[in-house]
Amino acid sequence: MKCIKRIFITFTAAVVLLAALPASVPAAFAGEDGENGDADYIRWVDFDVTAEAMRDAAEADIASYGTDAHIDWITLLALLGARSGGDFSHYKKSDLDALVTELASGRDPRELTKNVKLFDYYIEAYGAILGGMLGEYIKTEKAEDGTETVSAGYGIRAFSPFAAGYYYSDFDDFGVSRSFGYRRRHLGHDMMGSIGTPIVAVESGYVEALGWNMYGGWRVGIRSFDGKRYYYYAHLRKNHPYADLYEGKTVMAGEVIGYLGMTGYSSRENVNNITTPHLHYGLEIIFDPSQKDGWNQIWIDMYELTKFLSKYRAPTYYDDSTSERITRVYYTYTDTPD
Ligand SMILES: [Zn+2]
Repeated sequence: MKCIKRIFITFTAAVVLLAALPASVPAAFAGEDGENGDADYIRWVDFDVTAEAMRDAAEADIASYGTDAHIDWITLLALLGARSGGDFSHYKKSDLDALVTELASGRDPRELTKNVKLFDYYIEAYGAILGGMLGEYIKTEKAEDGTETVSAGYGIRAFSPFAAGYYYSDFDDFGVSRSFGYRRRHLGHDMMGSIGTPIVAVESGYVEALGWNMYGGWRVGIRSFDGKRYYYYAHLRKNHPYADLYEGKTVMAGEVIGYLGMTGYSSRENVNNITTPHLHYGLEIIFDPSQKDGWNQIWIDMYELTKFLSKYRAPTYYDDSTSERITRVYYTYTDTPD
C-alpha cells in the first residue's frame, strides 16, 4: 500500500512537472506533434493562483507604486509559482511578505529562485493572463445628468463581468464534461444570475467576434490591446443581447457590453435553449497566432480570477431612452505591454 502510494505521488509530481514545463524544454516533452517543430511558445498553462494570492500580490504592487522599489505583482506570483510548480493550495502570505522584503531591498528576482527557467515561464504565463488588469489608468465616471468626472490612478483596472448590485452564484466548473453537439470539456466559467443583468467588459480591448454561435448563442469576443487575451461572453439575452457594439469597436473595462440571458445550443438564431440563465465567460490565452482557433487552444480556469474580481464591480445606471442599465464608470489606458 505504501509503495502504491509512493508511486502515485511520484506520478502526480511528474504530471505537475510536465504540465508546468517551460516553453524551452525539448519539443517532445511539451506535447509537440511535429507540426511546429521549432516553434518556441507556451503550449499550456494551469492557472491555479488563488484569489487570496492575487489580492496580496496586487496590494504589494499598488503599495509600492511610485517608490524606488516598485514591486510587480506578476513577479511575486511567478516567484511563488516557480517554488510550488504553480500549486497555490498551500499559499501563505508570510511567504509573499518575505519576497516583498527581499525585492524592496533591491534584490534581483532571479536571485530569489532556484528555478530560473520555471520563473521565466511563469512570468510569461501569468503576465499573459493578468498583464492588463493592474496598472495606470484614466477613470471616467458618468453621472446621470451627463457630467463626467475624469481622474488618473494606479491599481486594478479590470472588473467582474457582473455589474454592481446584481447577484450571482458560481462554482469551479472548469473542465467538466459537456455533451451538446459533441463531447467536450467546459472551457470557461458560468455565473448564474437573472436575465437582463448588465454584463460589463472585464478588460478593455477590441470587439473581435459578435453575433450568433450555435453553442454560445448571442456572444461577443473581446481581444485585449496586447493581443494575448481573448474574452468570450456567451448566452446573452434573446432579442436585445448587446449594448451598442460592432466588430472592431474599442470597449473599455467597465463598459456595459450586453445583458445576461439563456440563448444558445441551437443552430437557429435567437433561441433560448439554455435551461438556467447564466453568463458563460471564458479567457483564452494566445502566445502564438496558431493557438487562437487551432487544436492547441489555451483556456484558463476563471474560478479564482472571478473571485478576485468580485471586489471590483462596475456601477451602471438606468437610461430612460433605452430602458436599459448603461455604463457609469470605465477605465481607459494606453500602456499596452507586448
Ligand atoms: Zn459555460
